[in-house]
Amino acid sequence: MLQGWPLTFGAGVALLVLGILLGRALTLAVDRRRNQRAAGEQPHYLLGLNYLISNQPDLAMVELSQAVRGETDAIEAYLALGNLFREKGQVERAIDIHKSLLHRAQITELGRMQALFSLGLDFKKAGLVDRAERTLLELVRRDPDNLSGWHCLGKVYEEMGRWQEAIEIQERIQTLTGARDNRLLASLWTERGRQALADGDQPSALSHFRTALRLDPAYEPGRIGAGDCLMETGDIDAALAQWEEALGDDAAWAGNALLRMLAACEGTDDLARLETACLLVLERHPRSWRAMWVQARLHHERGEDEKAREVLAKALFERPGSLTVQRALWQAYAAEDLDYRELGGLLDRASREAKLVDPYVCLRCGFKSTQAFPRCPHCHDWNTLAEEQA
Ligand SMILES: [Zn+2]
Repeated sequence: MLQGWPLTFGAGVALLVLGILLGRALTLAVDRRRNQRAAGEQPHYLLGLNYLISNQPDLAMVELSQAVRGETDAIEAYLALGNLFREKGQVERAIDIHKSLLHRAQITELGRMQALFSLGLDFKKAGLVDRAERTLLELVRRDPDNLSGWHCLGKVYEEMGRWQEAIEIQERIQTLTGARDNRLLASLWTERGRQALADGDQPSALSHFRTALRLDPAYEPGRIGAGDCLMETGDIDAALAQWEEALGDDAAWAGNALLRMLAACEGTDDLARLETACLLVLERHPRSWRAMWVQARLHHERGEDEKAREVLAKALFERPGSLTVQRALWQAYAAEDLDYRELGGLLDRASREAKLVDPYVCLRCGFKSTQAFPRCPHCHDWNTLAEEQA
C-alpha cells in the first residue's frame, strides 16, 4: 500500500499544506512579535520554518521539536512537525502528533481542519485506507468546500477501487472549482466498467463504458473496454467497430486496439477489416511496432513469408526487446529452415542500434511500463501515458 502513495499528488498536497502553514505561521509569528509575547520560544519556531523553506527537513525537525517542547499552543509547529515525520516515513509519529491536536479543547476550527487533513494523509500513507476515509469524511462534513479534503478522499476511493464514490467526488470537485474535465470523469467511468467486466457483469460494464464515451467520445481506453465487453458477449462485429474508433492519434492505444482486432480476426476468413485497420495505424504511426507485427501476421496469412520477415526485422529495430517480435522471427526462420546465424546477426545489430527499453512512459513522472495504462501505476495521475520513441 505504501508504494501506492501517489508521489506527484503527495508532493502537491505537501506543498499546499506547507504554503498554508507558512502563511498562517508567519502571520502568527509577526503578531506574536508585535505583542512581545512568548519571545523566548520564537527562535526555534522561526528557525524551523526557515529550514523548511530552505528544504532542510532534518534541521527543521530539530527546531520544531524544540518549539513544541517550549510552547504548547503552537498548533502550526505541531502540524508542520507531524507532516515532516510523515514525509520521512515515520507515519506513526505523525499520526500521534496530529491526533493529539484533535484532542485539544482550545483548538480553533481552522486548526481542527488542518489536523484532520494531515491525519487523513498520514493514514493514507500508512495504507490505512478505512481510517483515512473516516477522517477525511469528517473533514468534508465539517467543511463541505474543502477542495483538498475532497481531492484526497477521491484518491482514497480510487485506491480502494470504489469507483462509484470516486466519480461522485470528482463531480463534486468539478462543481466546486467550475472546471470541467470530461476526460478525467471518462477515465473513472472506464475503470468502473473494467471492474464490472472483471466481476462478470457485462451489462453494467457496457453501460459504464458507454457513459465514459458519452463524456468523451475520443477516450480510447473507454472504446477498448467497450470492445472487450462486446467481444465477451460474442458480438464480434460491434467489438471491432469499437476498436476501430480507438485507432486515432495516440500510438499506444491505437496499437493496443489493433492487437485486439488481430486476436478477434485471426483464424477467420475475413481479414479485410484488420488489414484496413493495420494500414490506417501504420499511416498515422509509421513507427508503431505493434502495427508492423500485425502486418507481418497478415503477410504470413497470405503466404508472403519473405515480406513478413522484412516487416518483422523492421519491428525488431523499433523494439529490440520485444519477445513477441523476437519469437515471431525465430518461428519464421525455423518454418523455412533458414540460417539462424543470419538471425543472430540481426538481433545483435538491433540491440546495438536501438535505444529503446520500455514501450510506454508516463509524461508526468517518467514511470516506464510494458503495459498500457489509463492511470499511471506510479504517480496515479490520469491519462499521462505516451509511447516512448527512440
Ligand atoms: Zn506517472
